[in-house]
Amino acid sequence: MSKYLAKIGLEMHCEISETNTKVFSSARNDYSSTPNCNIRAIDMAFPGILPVVNKEAVKMALKTSMVLNCSQPEFMYFERKNYYYPDLPKGYQLTQETKPIPVGIYGEVKYECNGEEKTLRVNNLHLEEDAASSNHLYDTTSIDYNRAGVPLLELVTEPDLHSADEAVAFLEHMRMIYQYLDISEADTKKGQVRCDVNVSIMDPELDENDPNNWGTKVEIKNVNSFGGVRDAINFEIKRQTKAKENGTYDTDVIQETRRWDEETMSTIHMRSKVDAVDYKYFVEPNIPKYKISKEWIEEIRKEIPMLAYDRKKKYMNEYGLSEYDSDILVKEKANSDYFEKVVALGTDPKSAANWVNGMILSYLNYNEISIKDFYMSPEMLKELIDLIDSKTISSKQGKDVFYKVIEDKKTPKKVVEDEGMMQITDENAIMNIIDEVIEENPKQVDQYDPQNPKLLDYFVGQIMKKTKGKANPSSARSMMKEKLDSLK
Ligand code: ADP
Ligand code: MG
Repeated sequence: MSKYLAKIGLEMHCEISETNTKVFSSARNDYSSTPNCNIRAIDMAFPGILPVVNKEAVKMALKTSMVLNCSQPEFMYFERKNYYYPDLPKGYQLTQETKPIPVGIYGEVKYECNGEEKTLRVNNLHLEEDAASSNHLYDTTSIDYNRAGVPLLELVTEPDLHSADEAVAFLEHMRMIYQYLDISEADTKKGQVRCDVNVSIMDPELDENDPNNWGTKVEIKNVNSFGGVRDAINFEIKRQTKAKENGTYDTDVIQETRRWDEETMSTIHMRSKVDAVDYKYFVEPNIPKYKISKEWIEEIRKEIPMLAYDRKKKYMNEYGLSEYDSDILVKEKANSDYFEKVVALGTDPKSAANWVNGMILSYLNYNEISIKDFYMSPEMLKELIDLIDSKTISSKQGKDVFYKVIEDKKTPKKVVEDEGMMQITDENAIMNIIDEVIEENPKQVDQYDPQNPKLLDYFVGQIMKKTKGKANPSSARSMMKEKLDSLK
């Protein structure tokens, strides 16, 4: 444990993936297609262009702002942040800088970290546009402008986090919020989430709410995975703590921007705050300031669905699932939606959860696919569970049916029929087989001792052999025992 208290603030950028078009132009919001095909003159800032604000993106931004308990000011407008970079064809980024920020300021979020509820204050949430993406090759760089103008939400927190665990738990919480609001997949693997991580350490005896007591803040720019955020924070806390202990804090920990380097697993100096760029912000003159009506805000508020946190509570309190199972279910919205469909069809929530969290998740993980691309529909899973519950097949056979359904692209019922897997539960049918077994094994019947029914296993084995494993094992056993006992 460190002798110092870490203070961490995040600037989380999340691309909005669920609008059809970009935030200021009618180009498609899809940069996974062929490079440089989703571009309009507006994205390149050709002379005379007039950007048009995407209402859907604004709505999503306002929705997020409400979930973060921010306040929503009365007017919407954008500002130019001026700088030059090859991935910024306009020479400026449209963003929202001056407070009060139009989509949201001063909120508060509750999230869970290691089973404990925590609160984090939000400084602001704003809507901006993404830059193009550069691909640095051996001796050249290629640029894909499909990403230029993709809507981006930036969430700036107060430095209320104290550890890498808390930071990652909060990011996971936000990822779920974006997914549940149908705003973004918030998938780091697709580059949809990038974070700037601010870290300082202070004396834990002092009041952490007084900014005068805070240490020097170091910013780590553009960390693009949650694992990277965790490692970068842990590295920075260690580096700053060591500097305190060596008496070199004032020279080693300066106000600067660093970057996280995966190769050396360390943070590396990029630029100091003294060479900070002056962005010369001004209000974008081509987008009129417009009023956000109270009615519209209320309409948007009504669209907010039940979020992961509340679904989890529902699974625990109404369905009696464990906290562990509930956490796994809600982690990906698509999995939780699938589970809810199976339950809505009338399946017992506990068996549905066992199948989703067990067989299905391991199948998806192993094959690296999402539940959206999974062949077995909620209806088919319900059919499979019903076949087991009605003892038509054993639970062991259920697993075989599961794989057969996926392999052969058939329904569970069809697999059971085609493979002749139906268990024999019909008592008359089992009785006939028992009679045959007894007739064919006079010596064993003679040796059978009801006080020490070891030979019973042998007889049950014979039934299974004759039925190719299709007799229901527990009825076969009890009927066989009854018959043998009656002969003694
Ligand atoms: P800047 O002016 O350098 O951009 P801000 O005050 O706007 O700094 O804060 C940017 C981010 O840095 C926010 O997420 C904030 O919570 C965080 N931050 C501010 N001060 C500290 C600090 N002493 N330690 C850690 N994070 C901090
Ligand atoms: Mg920004």
